[in-house]
Amino acid sequence: MGRYILLRHREIPDLHRLEVYVRHGGYEAWRKALTAMTPEQVIEEVKASGLRGRGGAGFPTGMKWSFVPKDVFPKYVVVNADESEPGTFKDREIMEGNPHQLIEGALLAAYAIQAERVYVYVRGEYRSVARRLEAAIAEAYAAGFIGRNVLGTGYSVEMFVHLGAGAYICGEETALLESLEGKIGHPRVRPPFPATHGLYGKPTVVNNVETLANVPPIILHGAAWYRAMGTEKSPGPKIFCLSGRVRRPGNYEAELGKITFRDLIFGEEYGQGLLEEGRAVKAILPAGASAPMLPPSALDTPLDYESVQAAGSILGSASIIVLDDTVDIVWAAYKMIRFFQHESCGKCTPCREGTYWLRRVYERIVAGRGRPGDADLLESIARQMAGKTLCPLGDFATSPVLSSLKHFRKEYEAYLRRTIEAPVGAPA
Ligand code: SF4
Repeated sequence: MGRYILLRHREIPDLHRLEVYVRHGGYEAWRKALTAMTPEQVIEEVKASGLRGRGGAGFPTGMKWSFVPKDVFPKYVVVNADESEPGTFKDREIMEGNPHQLIEGALLAAYAIQAERVYVYVRGEYRSVARRLEAAIAEAYAAGFIGRNVLGTGYSVEMFVHLGAGAYICGEETALLESLEGKIGHPRVRPPFPATHGLYGKPTVVNNVETLANVPPIILHGAAWYRAMGTEKSPGPKIFCLSGRVRRPGNYEAELGKITFRDLIFGEEYGQGLLEEGRAVKAILPAGASAPMLPPSALDTPLDYESVQAAGSILGSASIIVLDDTVDIVWAAYKMIRFFQHESCGKCTPCREGTYWLRRVYERIVAGRGRPGDADLLESIARQMAGKTLCPLGDFATSPVLSSLKHFRKEYEAYLRRTIEAPVGAPA
C-alpha cells in the first residue's frame, strides 16, 4: 500500500479507469464482501475500524449502518456528493481522480444494509464530475460489479447519479433527500431519522463521498490495519482542504491527529507558509464558514476531532481556511453571514429572520454607519438563534459572529469608534 489511501490517483496514473483500478486491487474488497462475508460482518468490520463520517458531523459510520431495520424494503444508500461548504474541495478530487473507490465503497454500504439502489447526489455545479462518475459507473456495470446477480452471488444492486440544482442546504441529509424526491430542498423535522424513514419514507443510509472511499481498504485490509492509523478516537486517514492566505493551497492526506494546523500551513510537504513574506496568521477556520474561527494560539492543535473540539471549534469536513493579518475580521464575518443569509432555506423563523437581521447590522457596520451597541446586538441575535433552528445551518451562521466577537472584539469596537468619532458624511 502506497502513501495515499484516498488520493491514490496521485501515485497511480489513470486510476479513474476501471482497468487500472482493478489492476491495483480495485473491487477486491467488493468481491471479498460478496463471497466471504455476511452483511452483518461488513457492518461489524466498519464498526470495529472506528471510521467516522467525513462529511462534517463525524458520526461513527458502522453505527449509522446498524440503525437500519433488517426487515423493511426497499432500502437505499445515498451518497452525499453535494460538496458546498466554502473551502471544501476534497470530494471533488476523489470523484474525479479515484471514482471507483467511491463506487466500491457505496456498493459495500449497500450490501451491508441490503439496499437495492444507490443514488449519488452531486451538486449542480459539478457537472463534469457527474459525467466522470457516470462513465465509471457504466464501466462497473459492464464488468458485472453492479447490476443483477453481481458476480453470480444472487445479490442485485443499481446505481444512479443525480445532479442537484446547487444549493448549500442540500448538503444537509434530509434536505438532500427532499431534493432527490423532486421537491424543494427543505430539511425535514427529525426524528424520524433517515435510517428508518429516508428516501421515499424507506430506510436509507446517507454517507459522504470521503467516508465511503475509506470503506474498501477497511474491508480489504481489516479494521486492525485501519485502526493503526490516526488516534484511538479518530482513526484512519483524512483529507485536509487547505485554502486562504497560504502559498500552496490544496488537498493533503494525512493520518488524523498526526499533524497540527502549524504543520499543515507551514510544512514543506503541505502549505509551505503564508502567501506574503512577513505576515502572520490571524485566524484559522477549521471547517469552512460553519465552524468557529480560532486564534493563532491554536496553531499547535493536532488535527483530529477531539483536539479541535477541545480548542473551541470543530474539525467538520476539515476545510481549513487561513486568514492572515491583512484580513479585516469584521469584513470576513460579514461575508460569511451574507453567504448564510443567501443560503438559508427560510423554513424556520430563527434562521430566516436571524440571518437577515445579522446581515443588516453587519452591512451598516462595514459601511461606517454602525451604532454604539451593535457588537452586543450581533451577539444577542446569534445567541437567540443558536440551538433553536431546525437544521444546523442556523447554528453555522452563528459561528462567524460569536467566534469573531470572542477573539477579535477590539476590531468591532474600532469600527464602531470610527463611526462615532467620524460619522460618514462628516467633514474631514
Ligand atoms: S435552519 Fe435555516 S436552512 Fe435550516 S431549516 Fe431553518 S431556515 Fe432552513
